[in-house]
Amino acid sequence: MKTFSRRHALCLGAAATAAPFLKLRAQEAGQKKLGVALLGLGDYATKQLGPALKKTSNARLAAIITGSPDKVPKWQQEYEIPDSGVYDYKNLEKIADNKDVDIIYVVTPTALHPEYTIRALEAGKHVICEKPMAPTPEDCARMIKAAADQKKMLQIGYRLHWDPFHLRLMEAIKTKEFGDWKAIDVVDAGRMNDFTRHNAWRVNKELGIAGALYDLGVYCVQAMLYSAQEHPLKVTAKSWTEREKEFSQVPEHWEWELEFSGGRKAKALASYGQNGNHVKVETEKGEIRIDPAYGYSGQKGFTPTGAMDFKPVFQQQLQIEGQVEAILSGKPSKVPGEMGRRDIQVIRGIMEAAESGKTVEFGKFDY
Ligand code: NAD
Repeated sequence: MKTFSRRHALCLGAAATAAPFLKLRAQEAGQKKLGVALLGLGDYATKQLGPALKKTSNARLAAIITGSPDKVPKWQQEYEIPDSGVYDYKNLEKIADNKDVDIIYVVTPTALHPEYTIRALEAGKHVICEKPMAPTPEDCARMIKAAADQKKMLQIGYRLHWDPFHLRLMEAIKTKEFGDWKAIDVVDAGRMNDFTRHNAWRVNKELGIAGALYDLGVYCVQAMLYSAQEHPLKVTAKSWTEREKEFSQVPEHWEWELEFSGGRKAKALASYGQNGNHVKVETEKGEIRIDPAYGYSGQKGFTPTGAMDFKPVFQQQLQIEGQVEAILSGKPSKVPGEMGRRDIQVIRGIMEAAESGKTVEFGKFDY
């Protein structure tokens, strides 16, 4: 069985090419926290990432990049951001001269991730880009190339790689603690009833691409792949819509099934019309289950030997600390751009299968 782990160990992406420079930065690290600029001050930045940056031991919020001048005073006051740390989307390039900013965290609608990520990298900053990485694998490749060209790290905001319940699942599968996996069942779904504010772009094809499949489905793809610990071979899928008026541009529901080696199957649902969120992995010795699985807290987890027992964590704090640590150490990130591209490759396969009604075979994966 082809596993990820060796490939991870050998990964020579942007992280590795940037290593000499990064080691230099690491020497300075004892003296100061790395400065982060949030690009896009919407719901997630305001409620999760800003508060997380108040707690991070190795990073602080040093600048903001926004197209909404009305948001600026509150952010400046709350995070003590000087006037020299305030940018808009048009003058973003000026941030190149700001020595207090080491990392730009891109938190805009999906379709805008490539443009802002590439501009941020070209301004000489490391980038954390929110999930899902970009509309297409080709966009992802351009972003990865920009990082390599600039010798900067590009990482994806996959917070669950720092969640103890999901880490426990990954570890159990990797070590085969409960034997091989036999079947996987993942759901990430939340019924959307308000189609304004931060939901407006999610149901807009130009910005949200394929609705729930990108926004929530990328988490399903992630869980399927870290539960399977190998690449999928093929996919069948369908999408459908009940509320035609609200979902005139993107489907309301997506369902798909990935096939892995030995004919093993993983099925998933991502939906803006139903509710539910779980990861269930059937192994030779019983079920590993996280249910609920996808919140910022409140996970419940079970293995064949009993309930998982973890204290609540601030996922985004641990995520940013881990990502900053990767930058400082020059070691490969757990969540590099290459992983984001792989997931978008799977998502495009799901879309093709749903559109054609046929089984789609995946090509080669580079990560
Ligand atoms: P949001 O709509 O609340 O925020 C988006 C921000 O982008 C706003 O500040 C908006 O002003 C700005 N923006 C810039 N150009 C824009 C344009 N042309 N159209 C619309 N907005 C524009 O959305 P959000 O919920 O904060 O999501 C932002 C990103 O964060 C998305 O990539 C989303 O997938 C991601 N996110 C991740 C998680 C997670 O669990 N990791 C959770 C929520 C959101």
